[in-house]
Amino acid sequence: MSEDRLVAPFILQSEVECQCADPGCPGKDPELIACPSVQKVIRMAGELFKQYHDLHDVAPRVNSFIRCAKHNHAVNGRRHSAHLDGVAIDVIPPNGDIMDFVLLAEMQGWPGIIWNRHRGFVHIDRHGSGRVVRGFVDGTGRYWTDGLGNVADSEVLDA
Ligand SMILES: [Zn+2]
Ligand SMILES: [Zn+2]
Repeated sequence: MSEDRLVAPFILQSEVECQCADPGCPGKDPELIACPSVQKVIRMAGELFKQYHDLHDVAPRVNSFIRCAKHNHAVNGRRHSAHLDGVAIDVIPPNGDIMDFVLLAEMQGWPGIIWNRHRGFVHIDRHGSGRVVRGFVDGTGRYWTDGLGNVADSEVLDA
């Protein structure tokens, strides 16, 4: 890995890269990280983290950002997960203050926000389809869409 550095407020390059052990992993490719869609997510997340920090004096942490296909499979990600394109982040809000983080993310206009209550993080993404997804994963690992209360996909543990 090259020298670590902040790529946005409170976000290190090493946190953007795929977290697998393979040094040649495509999820660590500087060209992927430099592409406009990934850069936009990094910028938006930096603003979001800074806003959260301004309010709470403590910053959220990145749990998972870019994933290669192998790593995505290893962590139970969906087959077409936005993490594969580097446009999704799983975030651990500090002090378990999930709702505040979700509200800030909503105000900032993230099209996908999924609170994984089962695993204690919030997935935020900017998937290209333009669909808006709000939901949460409950204590049994079931995925619920927000509003309608329907179980959308009982197999999903992470988006
Ligand atoms: Zn990888
Ligand atoms: Zn995710």
